[in-house]
Amino acid sequence: MSDKTAFIHSDSIERLHYPEACPFKTERAGMTKSLLRSMGLFDAPESFEAAPVAAGEEDVCRFHTKEYLDILKRVSTGNMTSGDLFYGLGTEETPIFYDLLPYSLLAAGGTLTGARLLLDGSAQRAFNPSGGFHHALPEKAGGFCYINDIVLGCRELTRAGKRVFCLDIDAHHGNGTQEAFYNSDQVLTVSIHESGKSLYPWGGFEDEIGAGKGKGYNVNIPIPSGTDDDAFLFIYNTLVPPLLDFYNPDAIVCEIGMDILAGDPLTHLNMTNNVAAEIIPGLMQHHKPILVTGGGGYIPKKTARGWALVWTALCGQESQIEEPLGMGGVFLGSNEWQGGLRDMRVYSRGTKHSGIHSEIAATITKIESTVFAMHEI
Ligand SMILES: [Zn+2]
Repeated sequence: MSDKTAFIHSDSIERLHYPEACPFKTERAGMTKSLLRSMGLFDAPESFEAAPVAAGEEDVCRFHTKEYLDILKRVSTGNMTSGDLFYGLGTEETPIFYDLLPYSLLAAGGTLTGARLLLDGSAQRAFNPSGGFHHALPEKAGGFCYINDIVLGCRELTRAGKRVFCLDIDAHHGNGTQEAFYNSDQVLTVSIHESGKSLYPWGGFEDEIGAGKGKGYNVNIPIPSGTDDDAFLFIYNTLVPPLLDFYNPDAIVCEIGMDILAGDPLTHLNMTNNVAAEIIPGLMQHHKPILVTGGGGYIPKKTARGWALVWTALCGQESQIEEPLGMGGVFLGSNEWQGGLRDMRVYSRGTKHSGIHSEIAATITKIESTVFAMHEI
């Protein structure tokens, strides 16, 4: 069995962009690679770079409708109609732009390329920082997402008979992924996200647990605004490892959006990139193929640093990087970069802190009394 780690990127995806005014910056993937290179961490032992192969019509239509794909093709040539709004196209968060289709096909193709590398045994772990478009629905764009690469990647694995544990720690609920597998037990979806009470896409509550054969195989873990690393890791460690042990999947797919980071302009969490570094070794302990994607993250530099940390963790190199020890940032209330890849930790305090912990305890109780009880976990 291969023990290699693949970084999915190429010069051709590097050249494609959303409109300048859009907060979604495709450049983050290239920035991640440049940062890793500058620190001598890109060419980790047993790692290699693989170019994404653009998703084809057959691939895309394993989740999206042909009609929707044809509309994406048409709008990408500048030929728009007022009816396109019905498909979620042409809003501030789903702009229509020249690179829309080539970028979306290449980004989705990157996740498919990763899934195929795992399936043919070329890699045990793959990271597509250009993936993570979990809001796209079969015929609707949403939240900067047009083609749902997470769904396509999971489908590629389930088509090969694999049972997939799909974990999404982006700040937003993975609504498109939920919809794809809501009736299926072939994919156990777990989404940990800022509560839909305060954030788009306004759903992803604890009682959405799947239906039919999929009942109990869709787990939503909403967390309150202001959640810090300690609160996140508490709920994560209470709920996710037992679910992973119970399901014992053949492969793991994980979306890591860096819009979880404190200060992100689109979200309200108070976390640092340390959480990503801390959960990856636990996922790797299962010795199952892992496909990791990027996702949100609207402070490009912090996002790239977080994903660079993800890469070093996937390559088993993370322990070689020192965590900054300076306490100045804590006292000054700043989590500015102190060197290395890890952020300075930030903590929620006072009544905010106790409010977060009581909400988290209530969420744990709800999930334990439904999903956990159903599976006798
Ligand atoms: Zn997000």
